[in-house]
Amino acid sequence: MVLNYKNEDELRAYLICSYLGKNYGLFKSPDPLMLLTKECYEKYILYIFKNQEDMPIELLNQTIEESFSKIKILFEDKEVSKTIKNLATIFLNDLIMQYNIKDYILISPKIQIPTTYENVSFSFNISACFMKREAKNRSIHYVSFFPLLNRYDALLDVPTLAKLIKLNELNYRKNTMVFLDLYDADLPTILNRNMYFKKANLTKKSFTIENIKDKHIVNANLNLTIANNQIRKIPMCQNFYCPIRKECQNE
Ligand code: SF4
Repeated sequence: MVLNYKNEDELRAYLICSYLGKNYGLFKSPDPLMLLTKECYEKYILYIFKNQEDMPIELLNQTIEESFSKIKILFEDKEVSKTIKNLATIFLNDLIMQYNIKDYILISPKIQIPTTYENVSFSFNISACFMKREAKNRSIHYVSFFPLLNRYDALLDVPTLAKLIKLNELNYRKNTMVFLDLYDADLPTILNRNMYFKKANLTKKSFTIENIKDKHIVNANLNLTIANNQIRKIPMCQNFYCPIRKECQNE
């Protein structure tokens, strides 16, 4: 039997804890810096895809302001929210420079792609897709964001593993290498809601199908078996950042 999950966030929540998945259903990056960067980048990419021209700087600034206005209310400390906005602007600029028009052709803006891996089906997110302008060694780059990229083997994350496999299945171009380019901030930027390191860099890690090892497949199968079994809480759960910890532990 195939089990359907709405998207990769929901599947990720079930993989962390089936009780969390059933009652909350979403696991998003808790990091507002990366949420802001992702949202602004996807809007920027959509603009250049539709208009076939670069976004004017005034509009780019306006886009950042609009997205920022939604998250700044989370922070009591104005300095902290200012740091987040500045870092997101730097990250956005890094991403724009990374896939510059001289070296890359934009193929697609943000897309959701359905996939089935083993006995689960879900949709995953891609923020942008580019092809590198090179006669030899052609490559397609799928841009995505992944929390904890610096502290975790991303291919031990089942949705990311399934994403890389599916993107390779979709590749019909001969002699073209598919890259999944993942991004995150390089530090645990949030210590708590109102504390931020001022210095943080954007980290990139690229994966191809050749990076998938037996341990990733074994891990995925084991985790899916556990997640798909009966809904249960984790005994003596140490997840103090769980969004439903209070209701779960008080029940
Ligand atoms: S507190 Fe722990 S056991 Fe409860 S829902 Fe959250 S992750 Fe699951």
